[in-house]
Amino acid sequence: MANLDEIVQDIADEMRRRTDRGEVASYIPELARVDPNAFGIAVIDADGNVVAAGDSDTPFSIQSISKVFTLTLALGKAGDRLWRKVGREPSGSAFNSIVQLEHERGIPRNPFINAGAIAVTDSILSGHQPREALGEILRFMQFLSDDPTITIDRAVAASEQRTGFRNAALANYMKSFGVLDNPVEYTLGVYFHHCAIAMTCKQLAAAGRFLAHSGLNPATGSLVVHPERAKRINAIMLTCGHYDGSGEFAYRVGLPGKSGVGGGILAIAPGKASIAVWSPGLDAAGNSHLGRVALEALTKRMGWSIFGV
Ligand code: GLN
Repeated sequence: MANLDEIVQDIADEMRRRTDRGEVASYIPELARVDPNAFGIAVIDADGNVVAAGDSDTPFSIQSISKVFTLTLALGKAGDRLWRKVGREPSGSAFNSIVQLEHERGIPRNPFINAGAIAVTDSILSGHQPREALGEILRFMQFLSDDPTITIDRAVAASEQRTGFRNAALANYMKSFGVLDNPVEYTLGVYFHHCAIAMTCKQLAAAGRFLAHSGLNPATGSLVVHPERAKRINAIMLTCGHYDGSGEFAYRVGLPGKSGVGGGILAIAPGKASIAVWSPGLDAAGNSHLGRVALEALTKRMGWSIFGV
């Protein structure tokens, strides 16, 4: 344990000193207000030890990391029928790209690009009022983290609702192909709000534990998903979790991971740990720059890459 403690502290110290921090997302105006110098990391190992450093208790906007959890919920409801509405291949394009949608008749490439996540949200919404669907997503996050205090940052959601023209285009386009079942404004409303869930690194690492332990959350003893489903969600995180930077993330870090434009990354070391990092500055693909650097250092020093060494 001392070893992991030391390594995590070392990494946080190094990240504090670095000046290459990337650019904070500004296309959602409210996100541009975040301190670019923030850095947090939390690791929860198989025994439940929490090792954290930096701003690991500061809530940040999880943004696209929420897509891991909406995918989990939607698969629980629709099962494999979900794959009629969304694919599971890497896209090789930006998170908010529209080009592939025309070629592929409104079926998004995977559940982690915006179009795919909007289709997943639409599936969760079916048969419910938007408020109920959003409540279900939020309660799921609270249940996984075993923390009822997790909330939605309404200012961030409203900010994206005012400026989310690209997502509105994606949703309308999918609607024209009959891929969305619900009114576009309802689906987008739920989508913007689940992206605006605010969590700390510690809460996020706790929420990811079921993915590190074959579907079981060791903290609560609940089997969240079947082991096979956990394996498959990890596979999609590895191949699609960082948009057009997914190859680079696998190459450097070697773990299933999901990023968000709030600067967070959730990474899973199967059987070993659930890890959350946060540094708001992004690289050109929209992934946390120092978050990735920190995870690369961690997996290297712990020997945690799923590819060995
Ligand atoms: N809410 C953001 C959007 O739709 C999520 C994008 C992200 O985190 N990559 O643009």
